[in-house]
Amino acid sequence: KEIGTETGRTPYLTTSNLTKMFGDFTALSDITLEIYEGEFVCFLGPSGCGKTTLLRAIAGLDIQTFGHVTQAGKDVSNLPPSERDFGIVFQSYALFPNLTIRKNIAYGLENRKLPKADIEKRVAELLELVGLTDQGTKYPAQLSGGQQQRIALARAIATNPGLLLLDEPLSALDAKVRTHLRHEIKELQRTLGVTTVMVTHDQEEALTMADRIVVMNDGVIEQVGTPLDIYRNPASAFVADFIGTMNFIPGKVNGSNTLKMGNVDLNCDPENITETGDIMVAFRPENLLVQEGDINLPNSFEAEVKYMEFMGAFFRVDLVSQQANGNAHIKGDFSINMVRRTGVQVGDTIKVSIPQDRVSVFPGVN
Ligand code: ATP
Repeated sequence: KEIGTETGRTPYLTTSNLTKMFGDFTALSDITLEIYEGEFVCFLGPSGCGKTTLLRAIAGLDIQTFGHVTQAGKDVSNLPPSERDFGIVFQSYALFPNLTIRKNIAYGLENRKLPKADIEKRVAELLELVGLTDQGTKYPAQLSGGQQQRIALARAIATNPGLLLLDEPLSALDAKVRTHLRHEIKELQRTLGVTTVMVTHDQEEALTMADRIVVMNDGVIEQVGTPLDIYRNPASAFVADFIGTMNFIPGKVNGSNTLKMGNVDLNCDPENITETGDIMVAFRPENLLVQEGDINLPNSFEAEVKYMEFMGAFFRVDLVSQQANGNAHIKGDFSINMVRRTGVQVGDTIKVSIPQDRVSVFPGVN
């Protein structure tokens, strides 16, 4: 099965049937992936899903058990890291503590024995690019975490590699610096046009930075797609649950465009009904509408407010929908986001509605 394949374009980086075993343990299983020139791709998944192992296999820091890696049309599967064309940034900055910032950035350039004047010029350029022109003579320990990570980035791109690998580059930083640097890295990547692969377990990071996200779980790829695609049309219950918040309610397929939940016949876009029989119906808290006044919205049912939480930009409201007086109900707990509170209180029964194009269907759990 080919995942992430687009016909008509030549990929810059591929992994084919890449498998990595540690003893009996399969950390990566049959990973086939194509990454295009200039793309920003995130490997996203929970701890232990294999994303770092995949990045390390691409870099040659770990050698695959089976399968191949190609870069720029060349099979690099068995080349050591030093003979592959990439720059890498790690979570832990990994700067040389006894070298000045300038020397840190110049490291790869000096290894290439470039003329001294060229090195100095390039280092100055890079310092400016990451906004740290005046820090060149300091040592890493004299810089903040965010500054150190900018230097690590400058060092990684110093030799103009064809590929930039980022292994959780932001996770050691505090929230504010992280958001800031997220934008900076993205800008830099766009300006340079360098093909970039970033490992992260942070969905927000992946959604905001990636052109395409590779969602991984247990050593396999669950889905490859644009952030919007993955959020709107998750390919599996795992992806639906891992990205954003998702409600799951058991139901049944009841026709080409209807689902039965409780006593409600829910209209649903036919292309979203990919299963038959018992299913899980999935919908996001922000997509439910609360009925106000006399307007009758379609796909609506009643539920009782159990808990309300103020989240800043909205209220997260937990509800339970069950049968009372033959009312329209879906049998289950779910949550919704309300931008305005509109007088709703715990204990109230409210009517909510699901837009038919915002429903996903997954195989039922038995
Ligand atoms: P995290 O975000 O926690 O780093 P990850 O998705 O990057 O998770 P990997 O580091 O790729 O996960 O590890 C995948 C699996 O392979 C894990 O179960 C890990 O324990 C195992 N693993 C990784 N490296 C080794 C190793 N050198 N020896 C044995 N098992 C390993």
